[in-house]
Amino acid sequence: MKIIYLDNNATTRLADEVLQEMLPYYHEYYGNASSMHTFGGQIHKKIDWARGQVARLLNCEPEEIYFTSGGTESDNTAIRGVIEAKSERQHIITSRVEHPAVRTVCRHLQKKGHRLTEVNVDASGRLDMGQFVEALTDQSGLVTIMAANNETGTIFPIPQIAGMVKSRGGILHTDAVQLVGKTPLNLQDTPIDLLSLSGHKLHGPKGVGVLFIRRGTSIVPQQLGGHQELSKRAGTENVPGIVGLGKACELALKNIQEEETRVSRLRDRLEKGLLETCPDARVNGDIEHRLPNTTNISFEYIEGEAILLLMNEVGICASSGSACTSGSLEPSHVLRAMGVPFTAVHGSIRYSLSRYTTDQEVDFVLKEMPPIIKRLRSISMFCAGKDATTAAPCEIKPTL
Ligand code: PLP
Repeated sequence: MKIIYLDNNATTRLADEVLQEMLPYYHEYYGNASSMHTFGGQIHKKIDWARGQVARLLNCEPEEIYFTSGGTESDNTAIRGVIEAKSERQHIITSRVEHPAVRTVCRHLQKKGHRLTEVNVDASGRLDMGQFVEALTDQSGLVTIMAANNETGTIFPIPQIAGMVKSRGGILHTDAVQLVGKTPLNLQDTPIDLLSLSGHKLHGPKGVGVLFIRRGTSIVPQQLGGHQELSKRAGTENVPGIVGLGKACELALKNIQEEETRVSRLRDRLEKGLLETCPDARVNGDIEHRLPNTTNISFEYIEGEAILLLMNEVGICASSGSACTSGSLEPSHVLRAMGVPFTAVHGSIRYSLSRYTTDQEVDFVLKEMPPIIKRLRSISMFCAGKDATTAAPCEIKPTL
């Protein structure tokens, strides 16, 4: 069975060019970058090449790029590192819709006595700027707001936020794990102090990421025990991973404009087709300011798990914001923060496309989805004798 992979916000396929670039660093060039000999020295040079590729994509200095084990480590290091360094300003501002890699760390610090404000979002997932302005004071040490949301694709106004944070003397960290490589970002124009990205979200390898630390920004290193990465992130470097991430950034920079246009056209076609053919379907998120590859659609009155199961039977991979698929007892905190009704949160499906998604795959999904939705509606509603695709729901069965 052919797999139609529309779960690219979870992880992406490694690009062939990336794998080719990485392979020699598993067997041929296995030296340690810290060694004095030439064999190790050439590894050091390759790491610096990769650093340069990331810097070119973000338009920053290579010396501002620090390699980590991924988005989660970058987020943890940024948040804890700033809070430890800025002991006089203990207030943290974040949003209600952050990834757990940010949300959990902020709540952990709150338990340890730091003041935390989680700014609301509106029904479209846009940050409540009024509440943000009110929360931001001269006591706000760290603002950590994501660049784009992983569930809805909503893009946050980071350039505007950055200006406000700077005027108050605070530090801005952004989790740009979902944004980097999908839409351009220029760090020369935007006064972000710290930024997290992850290799496996942009057709690079898993287990490698970057923390951008703007020159002059103080953080307390969270990984001690070695001098690697200018002593900001100790530990022998994941050389193949770093090389792969560098190559992934090189490819992203080369193709970003063209891919953005092509992928968003495919996404729009998919979204429009699903809304036209599936009754009681609605899009979650800000349609105007959104990642080009993401659409989050709620098929009301049915369970996301059941939809995913039937999609899986025909080879379509996506993900859901309902409780069981997210691996927690709580359904999506993002959709709930947006005030999405309970029946719609449970029936939400995130389709996330990539540079490898084709028109034929979109056609296939458009053909397969309507009968899946119709079938589930017919068993999830208690409207005996009514056409389940048009009838208003009278009662909803608990779980399929
Ligand atoms: N931040 C966001 C917005 C994400 O979507 C993810 C992964 O899903 C992460 C952080 C964590 O990144 P990693 O898997 O590299 O630890």
